[in-house]
Amino acid sequence: MSFADSPLCAFEPGRKIIVAIDGPAGAGKSTIARHLARHFGLLNLETGAMYRAFALKALRLDLPLDESSGLERLAAETTIRLESSKPDPATPESGEQENRVFLDDEDVTGLIRNHTVTDAASRVSVFPAIRAWMVGLQQQLAAEGGVVMEGRDIGTVVFPHAEVKIFLDAAPEVRGLRRYDQAAQLGPAPPQQPEEVIRDLRARDERDRNRADSPLRPAPDAVLLDSTHMTLDQAVEAAEAIVAAKLNLTAIQNN
Ligand code: C5P
Repeated sequence: MSFADSPLCAFEPGRKIIVAIDGPAGAGKSTIARHLARHFGLLNLETGAMYRAFALKALRLDLPLDESSGLERLAAETTIRLESSKPDPATPESGEQENRVFLDDEDVTGLIRNHTVTDAASRVSVFPAIRAWMVGLQQQLAAEGGVVMEGRDIGTVVFPHAEVKIFLDAAPEVRGLRRYDQAAQLGPAPPQQPEEVIRDLRARDERDRNRADSPLRPAPDAVLLDSTHMTLDQAVEAAEAIVAAKLNLTAIQNN
């Protein structure tokens, strides 16, 4: 069903739908969030890009990544902005929404996906003060609602009252291979072997799941979607059905 036929247009005045998508790296969050945003006419906000942009600044300044105090001082003098172009409600299926991330007004979108920044983002995100700062920024960004926000703590911490929560997961080997295939499609020679990608992904998972502050875990009211045995297209379809069902239910309850 296209957005135009949807019984629940997310741009309906007064509706402030928030779709929270959490899960480990490589579970397909970005692909699914992008699709849901387009399909339901929502803004797509990728919070990992914010941690990545901050990590990039810390790396550029050669700051120790394992000391909260220096990072906190840096955060106090840093602005991070996420921009997501809004799809045209009349033709929501046209055009990809792209997240652009600005670090102190510099567009760093193209600089944050490499291995060094990925690892640094995972390290700086363990500190409660950094998380509190990021959570505040994310709550401001989505204050108006009408968003799909993806990350690790959206349904548990950033928007515990989100209308729809999906926790996406897949076996580490499957997630690692997906990441490897994505890199292979972008260029001739992926910088890492599949085993290395899987190893790094497990290390990040471990840090995300075991940190003391807002560890990665499903919110009690999240719908779990395990895509281990699905193609990404099937996972996208399943996520779409989850959102549609939730929105229909909310509409029935409100009438
Ligand atoms: O989602 P992405 O892989 O781009 O996120 C980069 C890192 O930022 C993750 O490994 C995770 O440690 C951290 N992160 C987080 N909370 C979020 C989003 C990302 O801790 N909401």
